[in-house]
Amino acid sequence: MKEKSGENYTKNKNQLEGHLEWLLARGENRETKMYCPYCRKTSVEYFSIRYSANGNFSLSPNFIACENCKENLLVDKKTQLFPFKFSVLAKFRRKGDQKRIGKLFQKVFGLSSRLRKEKIFEFFSE
Ligand SMILES: [Zn+2]
Repeated sequence: MKEKSGENYTKNKNQLEGHLEWLLARGENRETKMYCPYCRKTSVEYFSIRYSANGNFSLSPNFIACENCKENLLVDKKTQLFPFKFSVLAKFRRKGDQKRIGKLFQKVFGLSSRLRKEKIFEFFSE
């Protein structure tokens, strides 16, 4: 029984999850393509998520910063910082959450809105 449900799980993996594994297999310490909105000198390295009482969170492409400016993102205790590393995506279990964060990653790493394998291949063979 257990094996069967495992099989189904593999089959039903959505596209983003598949790409996620592909990305993870290719190393995750990539430099982002966006400059820090605070100093405008360094590439962004962190993004922040603000949690609400019901467990949902808000995130915005504006809540990003470099190593030196990351303190600016910590506006209150409900806010958490995360680095722009592909492994971070795997920490968010809910499909909808992964998608939202995945979209932010696409933007920050300069990937097209559709995660296509060819595009990602280009990205990693630069
Ligand atoms: Zn900065």
